[in-house]
Amino acid sequence: MAFPITRLRRLRQSEQMRSLVRETRLTPEAFVYPLFVTPGKGVRKEVRSMPGVCNLSVDEAVKEAREAHSLGVPAIILFGLPEKKDEVATGAWAEDGIVQQAARAIKRELPKLVIVGDVCLCEYMSHGHCGVVRPATPQSLGAAVAERPSVTTDRVTEYEIVNDASLELLARTSVSLARAGVDIIAPSDMMDGRVGAIRKALDAAGLINTPILSYAAKFASGFYGPFREAADSTPQFGDRRSYQMDGANVREAMREIELDIEEGADMIMVKPALPYLDVIAAARARFDLPLAAYQVSGEYAMIEAAARNNWIDRERVMMESLLSIRRAGASIILTYYAKEAAKLLA
Ligand SMILES: [Zn+2]
Repeated sequence: MAFPITRLRRLRQSEQMRSLVRETRLTPEAFVYPLFVTPGKGVRKEVRSMPGVCNLSVDEAVKEAREAHSLGVPAIILFGLPEKKDEVATGAWAEDGIVQQAARAIKRELPKLVIVGDVCLCEYMSHGHCGVVRPATPQSLGAAVAERPSVTTDRVTEYEIVNDASLELLARTSVSLARAGVDIIAPSDMMDGRVGAIRKALDAAGLINTPILSYAAKFASGFYGPFREAADSTPQFGDRRSYQMDGANVREAMREIELDIEEGADMIMVKPALPYLDVIAAARARFDLPLAAYQVSGEYAMIEAAARNNWIDRERVMMESLLSIRRAGASIILTYYAKEAAKLLA
């Protein structure tokens, strides 16, 4: 049946009518609110490229977590800015690490708030990479050497991010965070085999009930720019394309997710969100695990910058972007707008 019998505008006549037939609904229960924890007391330092987002000392992070919790946001995710960085990411797994301190303090005050702990090494490594770095040898470079004969063992001009040596540090970090009160371990490093290594370490430590939310399909993205300022995690050399995914690949993303599930992931994530809605939709169609998406710093910064110029209606675009991520199939959304969106939905 077609026009004039069928008129789709009949169901768009009023907000009540539209609400009745709405297919996708946003609720604050879907949100995870990211916090950046920094040493000190009473510190609340705004990130230049992310207006409204701050680096927070532990006491301020507790306040921020309390506010989000009171607005109906069920979970936060913690990132740390350590006092010192080194070559083995000590700050990531130290018992008194900055995220460990924050987790303990927040858990004490807000036992019901779910704390997700981002597990990566880049914020804690002097070189800013997500894994252990060592000079590359011709053997480890393999075919690349044949193309570049100038690279020899005595003249090392290349480096590599060592996969297997990084797993031990990621596993150690995960156990340390879970012991400090982190409820969900969320590895974001993109090393192969990390989920299995973390599961094994958690179980060996008796932490059999700590779930893993894997950043399963994390793409090498220009949209992470502002985050690197927020978390002070810009690589000092090179980039992350040898471990994060190529933005062109959706089939490979499915393989990444499948492997993480086989290794024991309880939940999966796609990151970034808006430029990868098709990946979210494909993952939703194929896998039955809870699916999260991260609306990253660059997505946030674009909305904020355009709104400051009065080029867009800030609240409208904020809610529309969150709705689109939900519609694509993510049931969990990590977003810097968690508090504000929850207020608007109340
Ligand atoms: Zn990292």
